[in-house]
Amino acid sequence: MSGTRLSQPSWRPATAVWLLSLWLAVAGNLPLWLRVNELAGTPAQRLALLGGFGLVVVGVTAALLSLLAWPRVFRPVATALVLVSAFNTHFMLQYGAVIDPTMMANIVQTDAREVRDLISWALPLTVLLVAGLPLWVIWRRPLAMRSWLPQTGRNALGALVGGVVLVVATLVTYQDLASLMRNHKELRYMVNPVNSLYAAVRVAADQLPKHVQPLKLVGEDARLGTSYAAQQKPPLLMVVVGETARAQNFGLNGYARNTTPAAEEGLVNFSQVQSCGTNTKVSVPCMFSPLTRTQGGDQTPEHENLLDVLQRAGLAVLWIDNQAGCKGVCARVPNASTLNLKLPGLCDGGECLDPAMLEGLDARIAALDPVRRARGVVLVMHQMGSHGPAYFKRASPDRKPFMPECTSNTLSDCPPEQLVNAYDNSVAYTDHFLDLSLQWLKARETSGTNATGLIYMSDHGESLGEKGLYLHGVPYAMAPQQQTHVPMVAWLSPSMQQRSGVGVDCLRAQGGKPLSHDNLFHSVLGLMDVQTQVHDVALDFLAPCAAAATQTGKVKPPSAN
Ligand SMILES: [Zn+2]
Repeated sequence: MSGTRLSQPSWRPATAVWLLSLWLAVAGNLPLWLRVNELAGTPAQRLALLGGFGLVVVGVTAALLSLLAWPRVFRPVATALVLVSAFNTHFMLQYGAVIDPTMMANIVQTDAREVRDLISWALPLTVLLVAGLPLWVIWRRPLAMRSWLPQTGRNALGALVGGVVLVVATLVTYQDLASLMRNHKELRYMVNPVNSLYAAVRVAADQLPKHVQPLKLVGEDARLGTSYAAQQKPPLLMVVVGETARAQNFGLNGYARNTTPAAEEGLVNFSQVQSCGTNTKVSVPCMFSPLTRTQGGDQTPEHENLLDVLQRAGLAVLWIDNQAGCKGVCARVPNASTLNLKLPGLCDGGECLDPAMLEGLDARIAALDPVRRARGVVLVMHQMGSHGPAYFKRASPDRKPFMPECTSNTLSDCPPEQLVNAYDNSVAYTDHFLDLSLQWLKARETSGTNATGLIYMSDHGESLGEKGLYLHGVPYAMAPQQQTHVPMVAWLSPSMQQRSGVGVDCLRAQGGKPLSHDNLFHSVLGLMDVQTQVHDVALDFLAPCAAAATQTGKVKPPSAN
């Protein structure tokens, strides 16, 4: 024993690595073990799964930490991994979330408003319980210094031992472990902290090709159809991108509560619509993508979207955002955000209720390119909608029909019925926003400014505690229908019906058809009479109506105007 060691006690790197791995595997993976415990059948199976899977996690963590067991590297790296595990534990316990690459991408792209909504008293408590002790120990004692070469050998040996533990534990419990992982793929994304490392690498890798690959052009042949030749009123279509609204709680879909009281005559409901993703980052670009979900519309877009094609055809396009941005969709078209608006009664603490998007809207449209505006306008409204977990912030105090409501960000703390009340209030408020939007559109129609129409489609649904899940973002293949079955409505003014040939009765007959985000791109091109080879009539849900009208002559075909 040397004198220095007595005055400043230090860890042998291997001791620190294995103690920390054990701690992370047990305390840093509580949600995983609770889930495995739930899934295990017999007591023997439970023991095999918890023991075997536990050793797998210890082994993989120890192998990783061994490679990083260098005096100046270990402490910052270990601190980061401990904190990541602690934060993950909180979000998994509170919301049933798993940490996969799309979740990580959401975290990277989120804004301060969204983060603030996710913070509750339980967060510092969980972080303290999971990270407090190991951080205190790590920072109290440094790693024992060794010369470079022997330490390299020891670290390699440590990684090897970790690998052996991993392999042996896997082999011994292979039968139970393999069937568990096959049936419950989400468990892979529950192993802290390797889930975050994997996701971070994937997200970083996804960023790389974007800088290298040029944007693929879409619809280079896009031009306006014959309906524009002698038009009296230019068309104005409002596309409302809904947020976190699920079909199940939408009054028009037969929900036991009337959450859509303002829905009026002429508004057509579509009851069987599937989202492309289970989170905003995937769904919003996919809705505007020329690709269907299975063609890769749910991947990071490397190509132009619907708005680019509309703009190329000569129309004016405007994106108004009341959320954390347009996820790249509005990158090449005029856009505005409510972020800096300070409207009394609508905006508070940097966050606005959706009707803020209608404030000064006429002026915003008047400021668009006059030549394009004279042809026609496509306006996108990106809602805050039912964005969670702070559903109670999504409706003004005078518009809360369902009380009492949950006012906590810790959703599992609220009685389920209060949580549903808060969510339903946000849906009713979206109904109110759609009503205000229709009034605005009708005023433009009456004044002779535009022939108007509206399409509303939510980006994805939400879990409200079903199967222990909250919020959204479950990987698509295993997502519950609450997260993928979304509401959609459409409304066309009489002059819009006439110029497009799409009558409201025919539209209503389409209401029960299975539709999805795949249909938006082609249907908007059809409705706006934009002629291009990328317009796929089979995916245009309005096309059957336009064709029927032309054949029967019920509505005058656009060319006969
Ligand atoms: Zn969303």
